[in-house]
Amino acid sequence: MFWSRSSSKPAAAPEGSVPPQGQPAVRDKGVSQAPRAGDEAEAAIDTVGAMLRTLGKHAIQVADADPAQVACEFEDWARHVLVRAPRPGRAAPTHGEVVRRDWAGLRVWLQGHRKAESESVEKAIADLRGALWALVRCFARALSEDGESDGQVNVQLQRLKGVVELDNPEEIKREAVAIAECIGEVLVSRKARQASRLEELAERLKALDNELEDAKRESATDPLTRLFNRGAFDEHLSRMLDMSCLTGQRICLLLIDIDHFKLVNDKYGHPGGDAVLRELADCITRSFLRRGDFVARYGGEEFAVVVSEVAAEDGVKLAERLRLSISRMVVRYNSAEIRITASIGVAAVVAGRPAAEWLARADRALYAAKKAGRNRVLCDDDVRAGASESPRKSA
Ligand code: GH3
Ligand code: MG
Ligand code: MG
Repeated sequence: MFWSRSSSKPAAAPEGSVPPQGQPAVRDKGVSQAPRAGDEAEAAIDTVGAMLRTLGKHAIQVADADPAQVACEFEDWARHVLVRAPRPGRAAPTHGEVVRRDWAGLRVWLQGHRKAESESVEKAIADLRGALWALVRCFARALSEDGESDGQVNVQLQRLKGVVELDNPEEIKREAVAIAECIGEVLVSRKARQASRLEELAERLKALDNELEDAKRESATDPLTRLFNRGAFDEHLSRMLDMSCLTGQRICLLLIDIDHFKLVNDKYGHPGGDAVLRELADCITRSFLRRGDFVARYGGEEFAVVVSEVAAEDGVKLAERLRLSISRMVVRYNSAEIRITASIGVAAVVAGRPAAEWLARADRALYAAKKAGRNRVLCDDDVRAGASESPRKSA
């Protein structure tokens, strides 16, 4: 790391650790004192940095902006605030030069970004509203056109009543045929109009459906990797749990976590780390191509796969195959070749138990895999049976 947080501390830095996320400092055991100004400033800086990361993680897609680029900008600002890294767009400082935090620049940039986000949301809503109004207009026109042709038919029926009063049968016949022809024409053209209107309505409904589908997909997608995001994963997991209760289907959950990913960021910078995350997402997707497989970015450098119709033993085999593919993966970034390994925790579904418990079992297996030396697959069953004492590391 080139820029350290400590360089931002005043000479007389307060003793003790910095309280996390804005909590006041507690100096003596059990005695809470008024926080010092230095502590409060540190906590405020931590909070702003954490808020920037959260905003970046859940950024709303802005038209014409690359989501990965936006996520990068948020991270760069967070690092600028937290560790005085150069603000986005600025070169690294020359040796000995201290970077000053650009609060005004951050405020202007964040306000601009928030405005663009809000405009983007407003535009999406306006587009949807426009499509709905077009549909309403289409219905209204259909009703009024039908009303007009109903009027024409009524006029002809009134005329028919008058014809009945005539004495001349020839005249009655002529008038009746003319009226029947007129009504026939009105009905034929109404039918044609209705057919084409139905087609138009179907097209509009389809367009509306597509727009809603796009909006839904966007809200379930992680902008960096284009995989499903955490929200979509939580929903899918609980659906699969219901499915296993109903049908007894066997389902496996894999939690994948990159080993020592922090070092990748430290060595190649955040954009280098992002390139790895994108490549890994592709690698996982390529390994799980079946229709029932569900791949998501669980958060940060963790990914999750829900594999249906698979028992624990086969789940471990699939995870092992993935682990191997990851260890062979080469990410080309600028002129560097980045290699990584990952640890994987596997847990099979237990029907009737809560989703959180299933997740916790996979997480426990992942933790055990990390503890056992990383770059390995462990199954929750094995962990419980004490297999973590002699973990199997595959070549
Ligand atoms: P371990 O083997 O124990 O998992 O170590 P690790 O370094 O992978 O795990 P740790 O939790 O210490 O660090 C995870 C790092 O992932 C820290 C964080 O900055 C980075 N990270 C999280 N999200 C992103 C992201 O979207 N892009 C990049 N480039 N880095 C990210
Ligand atoms: Mg992790
Ligand atoms: Mg990790």
